[in-house]
Amino acid sequence: MTQIDDVKSRLDIVEVISSYVNLQRSGSSLKANCPFHQERTPSFFVFPDRQSWRCFGACAEGGDAFSFVMKHEKVEFREALQTLAARVGITLVNNEESRSNARELFEINDAARRFFQQMLDTEEARFVREYLERRGVNERSIQTFEIGYSPPRDNRLLAHLRQAGHHDELIARAALARETEDGRLYDFFRGRLMIPIRDWEARVAGFGSRALDENATPKYLNTPRTPVFDKSRILYAMNLGKEPVRQHGAVIVEGYMDAIMAHQHGYDNVVASMGTALTERQVDLVRRLTTNVTMALDGDPAGRNATLRSLESSWGVFQRRNSQNTSVSMLQQPDAMELRVAELPAGQDPDDFIRSDPGAWPAFLERAQELFDYLLDSLSERADMDSPDGRSWVANTMLRFVAQIPDPLRSDLYLDRLSARLALNNDTLRRALGDIKRQLAREQRGQAAAAAADEATPQPAREYHAVEEALLAFLLQHGTEPLEGHESTPSTEWFSRSENREIYRNVIAGEDAEQMPVPPELQAHLDALRSRELRLSNQAKRDKAWLQMSLALEKEHLNNEIRQLSSLPEVMEDLDSPLAQRLLHNNIRIGEIDRLLRPASPNNT
Ligand SMILES: [Zn+2]
Repeated sequence: MTQIDDVKSRLDIVEVISSYVNLQRSGSSLKANCPFHQERTPSFFVFPDRQSWRCFGACAEGGDAFSFVMKHEKVEFREALQTLAARVGITLVNNEESRSNARELFEINDAARRFFQQMLDTEEARFVREYLERRGVNERSIQTFEIGYSPPRDNRLLAHLRQAGHHDELIARAALARETEDGRLYDFFRGRLMIPIRDWEARVAGFGSRALDENATPKYLNTPRTPVFDKSRILYAMNLGKEPVRQHGAVIVEGYMDAIMAHQHGYDNVVASMGTALTERQVDLVRRLTTNVTMALDGDPAGRNATLRSLESSWGVFQRRNSQNTSVSMLQQPDAMELRVAELPAGQDPDDFIRSDPGAWPAFLERAQELFDYLLDSLSERADMDSPDGRSWVANTMLRFVAQIPDPLRSDLYLDRLSARLALNNDTLRRALGDIKRQLAREQRGQAAAAAADEATPQPAREYHAVEEALLAFLLQHGTEPLEGHESTPSTEWFSRSENREIYRNVIAGEDAEQMPVPPELQAHLDALRSRELRLSNQAKRDKAWLQMSLALEKEHLNNEIRQLSSLPEVMEDLDSPLAQRLLHNNIRIGEIDRLLRPASPNNT
C-alpha cells in the first residue's frame, strides 16, 4: 500500500470537512452553504459512502478529501497530503531516505543468507543435509534456492552480523533479531531450515523457515513484515521463473517446498503464493508476464471451506483486474486473465505429488478447469442436486462469485451458465444476484468498519479508476496532441482521484513525462502509468482509443454526479431546482455519449 493510500484509508471525509464547514445532515449525505462561493441555499454536499464532496452551484466542483483541503487552504497536493497525514498520525517517509533504508535492509538480509548457507556446510548441520536428502531435495536445488541452516543456540547470526559491523538497530529492523523484555537481542530464527525469499528484482527480502525439531513450534516461520518484506507482495521463485512463466503461463502453488520440488524436476514456471488466497499485488506481478494462470490446490478435503473462501477472494481479485483491463484495450480483444484450478488427490500437496511421480505433473495440470466450473462441479458433488434445497444452496454459493464480476456482460454469461447447469430460471437467478450483491456490500461495509475499529490491518476499500488511469497512461506515453482542439478535452474535474488529477494537471501544463515535478509520494504511481502496456500500435487505433477514453471518462464523471444527486432528498422535493435540472442534463449528455460510443458497424475494430 502506498503512503497516500494509507493516509486515505484512515481519513473520514466528513470529519475532515466538518473541521472547516458546518455540515447538516440531509438524507444519507451532508450539506452546507458552499465555502467556495456566496449562496443562501446549500448546494455543497458531502457523500460519506463515496468519500467525496461536490458543489452543485456556481463552482460546479468536487473531489475527495485531498482536493477539498487543496482548495480550502489554497495549497498544492504535497502540502495537502502532509496536512492530512499529520491529521491521522502518519509520518511521511521521504522517498530518498526510504530507498537507502531499503538498500541497507536488502544488504543485511543478503549477509544473513550467506551466513545460513555457510552454516549448512558445517559438521553440526550434517543432520540437516540428511533431512533434505530424505525429502528428495538434491544438491543443485540446495544451491539454486540457497537453502541454509540457522543454529539453535548462542545467537550466532547476531554475533556474526555485529562482527561484520552491522548495527543492532538495523539487525532488529530487518527482523533478523528480536528484543527481550530487558532489551537484549536474540536470533529470530533458531534451529531451522532457512529459505531466502527473493523479490521480483531478486533481492533477498526475507526468509521462510521450517523447524527441524519435529516438536518445535511453529513448524513454519517467516520473516515478519518489515519495510522490505511483505509476503502478500511477493511470489516465491518468480525471480527464477520469469521467462518460463512468460512462455508457459504461471502455475501457482502454496508452499515454497512445492515450488522447489517443481523446479528441481524442470517445471520452472511454478511459483508459490506463500498463503492460500492470491493477493491483488501477486496477481499484478503475474499479469506482467502472462494471462494464463493455474492454481494447483492441495488435496485437502478437511480444509475445503477455507479453500472455498480463499478461491472466492482470488476470483474477486481476478475479476476486478480484468474489468480494469477492458478500458485500456477497448479496441482489441481484452486480454482477460484466465484462472484455472487443478486439485491434487486427497492428502497430497504438489511436493508429495511431484516427488512420487514427477512425470505425471503435466497431465495433472492438463485437467485444470476454469475456476467457475471447478467450483460448480465440486459444489454439485457435495449437494443433493435432486432437491430444490440442494440446488438453491449451490446457486447461492455460486452467485457470490458472479456478484464480484463488475462487467455486466461477463456477469450475464456466467448467469446463463448457472441457469443451464442448475435448471433454474434466469430471472430468478438475477433477482437472487441482486440480493447477494446487497448482502456483499453490507459485509464489506461491516469489514471496513471492523478494520477501522481495530486498525490491526487497515484494508481500504479498493477503488478503481480504470478509465482515468488508462487516459493518463495514454497521454504520458503517446503525448498530448489529442488535447489540442478536441471537442471533449477532459476537464480536471472529471478525475475523481486526487493523485490522477495532480498528474493530469502536470500533463496539461506541458510538463515532460520523464521529469514531471510530482511530489515524491506520487512518483511510483506516475511510473506505473508510464510503464503500463497500451498496445496501440498505429495512429488510427490511438485516435479511436482517445475518443473512446475521453468520452468514457466524461460519462463516468456524469454518472458519479447522478449517483450523488439521486441520493439527495432536495432533488425529489423540487423537480425544478437547479439540482434536478442538473440530473436531467447529465442524463441527456450520457445519452449523447452512448450514441457517440456506439460502434458504426459490428466489425470495425
Ligand atoms: Zn460552490
